Amino acid sequence: MEQHPDDRNPMRRKWVDTQDVLAMPYDTPIPGYQTNTVNTLRLWSAESLYGFNLAKFNQGDYISANLESAMDQNITRVLYPNDNNYEGKELRLKQQYFLVSATLQDIIGRMKTYHVDLHDFARMNVVQLNDTHPALAIPELMRLLIDGENFTWDEAWKIVSKTFNYTNHTLMAEALEKWSVRLMEKLLPRHLEIIYEINFRFLCQVSAKYIGDNDRIARMSLIQEYPEKMVRMAYMCVAASDHVNGVAALHTELLKEGLFKDFNEFFPGKFVNVTNGITPRRWLRKANPELSDLITEKIGTDWVKHLNELDKLSAYTEDTEFLQKLAAVKRENKQKLARYIEEHNNIKVNLDSIFDVQVKRLHEYKRQLLNILHAITLYLKIKDNPKADFVPRTIIFGAKAAPGYFMAKQIIKLINSVADVINADPEIGDKLKVVFLANYRVSLAEKIIPAADLSEQISLAGTEASGTSNMKFALNGALTIGTMDGANIEIHDAVGADNIFIFGMTVDEVKKLREQGYNPYSFIEKQPYLKRALDLIRSNFFSRGEMDIFRPILDSLNYDTYMLAADFESYAAVQERVAQLYQNPMEWQKCCLKNIAKMGMFSSDRSITEYAEKIWNLKPVHVDVYAKHGFVLSAQQLEPSNVSQNE
Ligand SMILES: *Cc1c(COP(=O)(O)O)cnc(C)c1O
Repeated sequence: MEQHPDDRNPMRRKWVDTQDVLAMPYDTPIPGYQTNTVNTLRLWSAESLYGFNLAKFNQGDYISANLESAMDQNITRVLYPNDNNYEGKELRLKQQYFLVSATLQDIIGRMKTYHVDLHDFARMNVVQLNDTHPALAIPELMRLLIDGENFTWDEAWKIVSKTFNYTNHTLMAEALEKWSVRLMEKLLPRHLEIIYEINFRFLCQVSAKYIGDNDRIARMSLIQEYPEKMVRMAYMCVAASDHVNGVAALHTELLKEGLFKDFNEFFPGKFVNVTNGITPRRWLRKANPELSDLITEKIGTDWVKHLNELDKLSAYTEDTEFLQKLAAVKRENKQKLARYIEEHNNIKVNLDSIFDVQVKRLHEYKRQLLNILHAITLYLKIKDNPKADFVPRTIIFGAKAAPGYFMAKQIIKLINSVADVINADPEIGDKLKVVFLANYRVSLAEKIIPAADLSEQISLAGTEASGTSNMKFALNGALTIGTMDGANIEIHDAVGADNIFIFGMTVDEVKKLREQGYNPYSFIEKQPYLKRALDLIRSNFFSRGEMDIFRPILDSLNYDTYMLAADFESYAAVQERVAQLYQNPMEWQKCCLKNIAKMGMFSSDRSITEYAEKIWNLKPVHVDVYAKHGFVLSAQQLEPSNVSQNE
């Protein structure tokens, strides 16, 4: 880094000896549903500026001839597939920087093309940081404006602090990005210098407000000092953003009184809630055409664009004929999924069984382990008493694990091993089946969710920021068994306590138990079936050829970080209530219909409207169709010419 020759701007620097990479844009058109706008989703690919080194090739050095361009292209070869887990790898930092720099240079380039004054940057643009992964956009925009456009620090900061907003997606400590100062010094020295300057000015303001409160100043610093110097990316996002939001009511409250407590006190009004939503076009109309048609028959098509219209279905909760049609659609969807399961897993499932589904990323806090342990207890109950009445169940899992997440892979292995034993037991027959569907992804979710009777949303209270599959399931007429966590709470409030199966501790009860000193064994002792399930795993009943492979899972229960032993009793009890209700098909369907009718507020249209109103300060625009010219102008295309007329 060098001092820039223009010494009128003491903050200006020249960044030298850089690795220069070409950003190649790839545009995907995103048409609105029955609107006249088509937006573009612009993705970037890293390409070599120099390509193939012919001189090296001619010298016979084939490896070196390719090496440089291969290294450049590696920047975007894979997107890091972690979920709720931070990975501090150099290539990941390079990828994050590459993507934000390309995007910001693109925005600046576009403003220059339309001759818009860059001082109007914040009036013309808003950037929503979707988690901290693009947080480097903050120092990068400072750099582009100061070093590139010769703005003063204050001019640049005025723009940056109005342009950015930040959405937090998790409270899990291991997911919070902290980049080591040592790595940033090596890769992004100018950005580190800018972050230090942001921090210095920010902490001056903090110390002016809380005179002498050095503990607070250290707590709020964007730089962690011990055990290693690290940049706290989430804190930087909060300090630089106009608004910060959580993704469900509980999550936002926990942010304000936990992770960002000091920041909420320092920046009153900065924190807002925007509860997540799902698009009814994909998750109902496209994924479940049979249910869509049934709904449209009753209330017309307006629900596709105005999901609150679904509330009109509340008038039909006593309409037996309609409830029977609802049941018939569900059965048809279960039939289709059953064919998929037979084809892919070679398991025949019982269409009269409860399709009990947990599909989501594999993570310990989501407690797939609680579900499979419960499945083992059901197995034991049938084995104890094979003649007794049992409401049949098909327990379906789908889950992807991050590649390096050992415990997640253990749990997937356990689910598959338990499935092999239970599904092969002739005494169990079609009373109980366990199915693990491989390669969980959106297209598979679209097949599974319309066929579900029961939606498993069983995270430990205080760990799931929002969840969105909880919304997808309820919209498709599945009942929820869940904890008071994330958006489950808002689903509970919308459908009413009688139409959802809530179990387990609340956030306050979790906190209290932790403070008392949690001992999982005091809970396991009191639950003979849970104890027998664990003993069965320990005895290698599910791992005959591979002795003791599940030891790490059993050992993890010595600490039981996600307290499944404490919630097990209440989970099992509520599962019995689920089975009882399922025996009364009309009551069950009535409950499903009440869920569907109350899903209006979980439309992503409502979420986006809230972002526009609370955060972006945008109003809807009407977009005219210029049909006689044979083409359509989008709002975005119109914007720059409007601006130049106004200037
Ligand atoms: C909706 C969805 C998710 C999120 O599921 P949660 O249960 O809310 O964590 C994850 N993966 C896919 C493929 C989805 O469709």
